[in-house]
Amino acid sequence: MTARIIDGKQVAADMRAELKQEVAGLKEQGITPGLGVILVGDDPASVSYVTGKERTCDELGIYSDHHHLPAETAQADLMALVRKMNADPKINGILVQLPLPKHMDESEVIFAIDPAKDVDGFHPVSVGKMVVGEKTFLPCTPHGVLHLLLRSGVQIEGSHVVIVGRSNIVGKPLANMLIQKSPTGNATVTVCHTRTKDLAHYTRQADIVVAAAGRPNTITADMVKDGVVVIDVGVNRVEDATKKRGYRLVGDVDFEVVKEKASLITPVPGGVGPMTITMLMVNTVESAKRAGGVSK
Ligand code: NAP
Repeated sequence: MTARIIDGKQVAADMRAELKQEVAGLKEQGITPGLGVILVGDDPASVSYVTGKERTCDELGIYSDHHHLPAETAQADLMALVRKMNADPKINGILVQLPLPKHMDESEVIFAIDPAKDVDGFHPVSVGKMVVGEKTFLPCTPHGVLHLLLRSGVQIEGSHVVIVGRSNIVGKPLANMLIQKSPTGNATVTVCHTRTKDLAHYTRQADIVVAAAGRPNTITADMVKDGVVVIDVGVNRVEDATKKRGYRLVGDVDFEVVKEKASLITPVPGGVGPMTITMLMVNTVESAKRAGGVSK
């Protein structure tokens, strides 16, 4: 079996086209969704993520208020900016690009964001609501994974999903979303990590494998069963002298061989990545609708 490729770029483009129309409709009602973006320092990956977010805001007609602060910014100044954005009615969502420089306390910053504007879904109020199955902002990457599965027609209910990785931004929230007693959940979920004994023992049982380990070749062909659905969240740089920049991006899955066994698989790049920014925009538009009284 050779897998059908899940084209995350296309799914994201479809969702963005729908959102663009929705934003145009909201503007006619006097509601302009707005996203506040804060970047501290010049980490190249963070700069590129933030640039992508601003570009997408422009593309969709979402107002964006961008602040690029020097790496040596004091915690108190960042906290003051977050509080200013909390109080600004033009801003419906606040995104503080992580990781922050080492001298800063990330938790304090995340906790300071008004949960009503927590479009990254990292505030404990959002996390708690997600766990108990209440409506809230879901974290963008796992929410993107869920949409990729749904829009690809994958049966989630009753499936055994094995997630490799237990981070607060991917593995844990995804596991929570998939075990919800809801039409988009009802899966049986196993979460694996570095202390899991015999990872392959679990992945071989999976109907759906989600790799979010941050290590190339974590999932190889012998570790999956025929017909498995594979979602590769990993983004890893591997040296490649044939590339101008000296490296190429790969996921956590040995794509070329696993695709010969899988029924569906996401590539890297072009799989989960484009969905993450899209889900941020979905949350920002939803927040604007709630603030404008058109959604609860
Ligand atoms: P993270 O915080 O480093 O967590 C990695 C998780 O994987 C940990 O729970 C770790 O276990 C587990 N792990 C690592 N190696 C493993 C192995 N060999 N076997 C089993 N488990 C293993 O990473 P993250 O932030 O969740 O990100 C994961 C990957 O996704 C990274 O490559 C990141 O760049 C990518 N990512 C992509 C997007 C996107 O938009 N496409 C967004 C977010 C992240 P322990 O807990 O035991 O250490």
